[in-house]
Amino acid sequence: MDSIKRIDIHSHITAFPEYAPDCKWQGRFCSAEEMIEIYDKLNIEKGVILPISAAEGQMTPMTSESAKFAADKYPDRFLWFCNIDPRALSNGDKTDLSPLFKHYKKLGAKGVGEVTCQLYFDDPRVDNMLSYAEEFEMPVLFHLHTKFGGSYGLVDEAGLPRLEKMLKKHPRLNFIGHSQVFWAEISNDCPENERGGAPKGKVTEGRISKLLREYPNLWCDISAGSGWNALSRDPEFAEKFLNEFADRILYGCDVCATLNTHQYLMDEFLRKMYADGMLKPDVWRKIARENAISLLKINLE
Ligand SMILES: [Zn+2]
Repeated sequence: MDSIKRIDIHSHITAFPEYAPDCKWQGRFCSAEEMIEIYDKLNIEKGVILPISAAEGQMTPMTSESAKFAADKYPDRFLWFCNIDPRALSNGDKTDLSPLFKHYKKLGAKGVGEVTCQLYFDDPRVDNMLSYAEEFEMPVLFHLHTKFGGSYGLVDEAGLPRLEKMLKKHPRLNFIGHSQVFWAEISNDCPENERGGAPKGKVTEGRISKLLREYPNLWCDISAGSGWNALSRDPEFAEKFLNEFADRILYGCDVCATLNTHQYLMDEFLRKMYADGMLKPDVWRKIARENAISLLKINLE
């Protein structure tokens, strides 16, 4: 293990493991203590706990309050985001969401997410929520899906035109992209039926690179099987991609259950790139921690 301490941009924890429902194939959400064990194995200094408030595709929602409660127990190891559903309060496109943003920001939330609700990315209610996130200077981390039903996440078509519309409309808001549908766009030849999966093979530069060049407010979360698949399917392209966009790539795990192991694959992959000289120390430091420190404006070296 190298000595660069990582920051995990994408973590899910329950403050109440004794009450959390279990799922046979992947266990339940980790407790803070279980996550710290994983963090110690991976040299992760701190993680960002992301509540999931939408019901779609989840065993149980995780509240912002639970995220804060778990983070406060170990302030040296965790930060937290709040989750403000675009349908909160009155399910309207002109709802004043500022009381919620003000409240959670005052409590210490560093951003908003993971956004997992099933609405179009440019639905007027999502647009409204993003306006408040922009005003309150809180980055938004989102999950995408190809369609309504069958999974969770904001819906967008191939090429992510609705995301682009929002990137353009909210230039002061930092968007953090994540999930299979986001990462499928690393290559420009993804067949429609593989957008929600793990497309393989050599990458020909896709929409993500173009969006990153055009919109300085787009960031990438490389957590989960989706981030790992996108980079490991073509290490040569990954080298180019990670070096070109070194200032806006964020290390992450997305451990959402006790039996997950995907977090070790990504770390191993990046460690190998670093050992092979494909990632220089300054680039690896940015990805592993410095980008998160600057995006979230936290007080770490
Ligand atoms: Zn997640």
